[in-house]
Amino acid sequence: MCSLSTVITAILLRVGIVGGGIVGLFTSYYLLRRGVNVTIIDTDPAGGRASENNAGFIVSTASKPRLSLSLLARAVLGFQAPVRVSLARLVRNARWFLKVSRSYGYGDDIIAKIARRSLDLYIEFLSSEGIDVDLVRGVISAFKKWEDAVMLAKSIGGRVLDERDLRDHGYIGLGGGVYVEEDLSINPLKLYWGLRKRVEDLGARVVIDEVRRIRVDEKGVVVIVGKGSTEHDYIVISAGSRCGEICRSIGYNPMVEPARGIVILHRTKRAGLISSPALLEDYGVAVAQHGSELLRVTGFFELIGHRVKIDRRLTGWLIGIARKHVKNYGEAEPYTVRMGFRPCSADLLPVIGRIPSYKNIYIATGLCRLGITMAPIAGKIVSSMILGESPPMDQEILSAISPARFGGRKVQAL
Ligand SMILES: Cc1cc2nc3c(=O)[nH]c(=O)nc-3n(C[C@H](O)[C@H](O)[C@H](O)COP(=O)(O)OP(=O)(O)OC[C@H]3O[C@@H](n4cnc5c(N)ncnc54)[C@H](O)[C@@H]3O)c2cc1C
Repeated sequence: MCSLSTVITAILLRVGIVGGGIVGLFTSYYLLRRGVNVTIIDTDPAGGRASENNAGFIVSTASKPRLSLSLLARAVLGFQAPVRVSLARLVRNARWFLKVSRSYGYGDDIIAKIARRSLDLYIEFLSSEGIDVDLVRGVISAFKKWEDAVMLAKSIGGRVLDERDLRDHGYIGLGGGVYVEEDLSINPLKLYWGLRKRVEDLGARVVIDEVRRIRVDEKGVVVIVGKGSTEHDYIVISAGSRCGEICRSIGYNPMVEPARGIVILHRTKRAGLISSPALLEDYGVAVAQHGSELLRVTGFFELIGHRVKIDRRLTGWLIGIARKHVKNYGEAEPYTVRMGFRPCSADLLPVIGRIPSYKNIYIATGLCRLGITMAPIAGKIVSSMILGESPPMDQEILSAISPARFGGRKVQAL
């Protein structure tokens, strides 16, 4: 229950959300529900690319490509699916690559805890808002070797599936899998647009313009956009893989690097081509069907900057994997290829909280491979901080994901 003074404080607040991807939208949602005046500023009228173009798995358990130094080296030297690295990027951002290879794996438990809390928020959100997202309960992690599935089940739990079970779920040529009933799969396009409509219905103002710079003065935070500026009491920088560019004007570096992923959408004519979505772990390829009309095949983790050209070899490889392991793939017809850039920090942990030296500038990014999963909790943490309430997360985790770990310039705070 909120006191009258808390309600009045919230109503008087003007918060600017820089970047209206899934993280910016969930932050807006939790602020709007408390009566805060929210303005979302986004370059793109169609919204966040990564937030629409992803696999749509809401999971606390998925494994990930091992970013060891040797894998990075092999990925630079040639075509090392699913991880690809450009030499130019490696040279330009050597500090990021070095840090990521050193800290890889240390934050897995933290991410699992954050993701589990976020899963609960999703259940609450989906049941209270009634947005249709083609929700499917239960996700499979599938392997070529049965022993790999057994090993994963030992660490995360879940039901072990054998080759026959996988065939019943619609997959062939795989030795074993782990079925985790609590994990969810959604259609990211429906989630993104359902939430976007909801925040607009709740009163969010949307400004379509590019944020160039940020300045702090006696009136609050001034966001300089292409056609003028907007003023706010607080801002949240949630521009995904572009956060580094935006933070430059305030002397902060969140050490976020884009990791490109590719999505191939297929038309289908009936439901049940597969009966459960799956991550084909040996390839880092995700397969999900939404309703009767859409099959989504997703893959790649490319550290190549914001490059938008897609080599045909990549789409050919993805389609090849789907054809090899989805029993009824012949009934699906690929019709469009899309991409998204995951925002990945140098220790692969989220960057959520107040930017050092600024009282009124917050950031929420670095959610990398699990940005859809963790967006609600990221939004909830930042909104509680702005409202002066205690965030729904242990202090130890808040410190681990704090923006302060990447330093910051000493500047005049408002
Ligand atoms: C292929 C692929 C598969 C994935 N699969 C999953 C999955 O199964 N489960 C999961 O949990 N996560 C998954 N992810 C990760 C997830 O999609 C991302 O982590 C998440 O979408 C990031 O959201 P965001 O809001 O931080 O960034 P974005 O979605 O990138 O949004 C940032 C927004 O900021 C705007 N912006 C940028 N610069 C400016 C500027 N200068 N001015 C104004 N606006 C600006 C952009 O237009 C954009 O709308 C996947 C990602 C990819 C690419």
